[in-house]
Amino acid sequence: MSTRKIITDFLTDYYSRRGRSYSWRRNRTPFRVYLSEVLLQRTRADQVEPVFERLVHNYPSVHLLYANLNDAMPAMRSLGRPCRFRYLGAGLEYLITEHDGEIPAERQHLLAVPGIGSYICGAIRVFGFGIPDVIIDTNVVRVFSRLYGLRADPETRRRKWFLELATQHVSSDHCVEYSYGLLDFAAQVCRSGRPACDICGLKSLCEYAGNRKEHPGRFIPGLAQVVRLEHPSTGHHPASGLDYKLYGSSGSSTHVVREQKSVDKESESMTDKPE
Ligand code: SF4
Repeated sequence: MSTRKIITDFLTDYYSRRGRSYSWRRNRTPFRVYLSEVLLQRTRADQVEPVFERLVHNYPSVHLLYANLNDAMPAMRSLGRPCRFRYLGAGLEYLITEHDGEIPAERQHLLAVPGIGSYICGAIRVFGFGIPDVIIDTNVVRVFSRLYGLRADPETRRRKWFLELATQHVSSDHCVEYSYGLLDFAAQVCRSGRPACDICGLKSLCEYAGNRKEHPGRFIPGLAQVVRLEHPSTGHHPASGLDYKLYGSSGSSTHVVREQKSVDKESESMTDKPE
């Protein structure tokens, strides 16, 4: 079994064993997913949950929420960052005007909605429609970067090679469980500050766990160091299935990946191309 499949199966199974339970994960509809993702932006889930439940109870559709936005606003503003709700109002209006109050499933249509970027777009497609797609945020970047020993920077989540790497792991049969499992694993085990490597079921294949002693506390710096631009070596990263050029001179845990070319064609049909 390939490393990629082991990781995908592990994360899918992780959700069934240790997945978190939230209101928006039950009775999923595209509207509930859309609203929850807007509310969750940089806001803790336990803060969001009571507000979300009140909103979907009182205004369970695009039309109803838009028609009562002034009444709904105080509850939403209690979560902070009020600018996101300006985009929500514009997004609801756009959905009513362009889609008769329905939320579209197509990537290009979702990305045309004000306030919907690639993360919310992916979440709506996966959790709202059950369509296999990638959901990428800094937590997802952290997990894959550690597993494969890739250096990441703040732009990594927008890069084509990372999109390909993440896409190759999406489960086509269990995309909802896989994606929730990945998000929960990132929050509970492969945490930002102190990853729980000792209890991690992926430890045996994780580059970070294997090389931690050599790079204490220095993994995933802000910017990758390009050491020898004039003499890059090429190679193949067996775990990720990517071809790469290695500009750095250090060991396997510090690959600086450029110009990757996916060798796994299987995943190309699983998701739309990035915006
Ligand atoms: S071994 Fe540690 S760094 Fe690697 S995936 Fe598990 S928790 Fe993350």
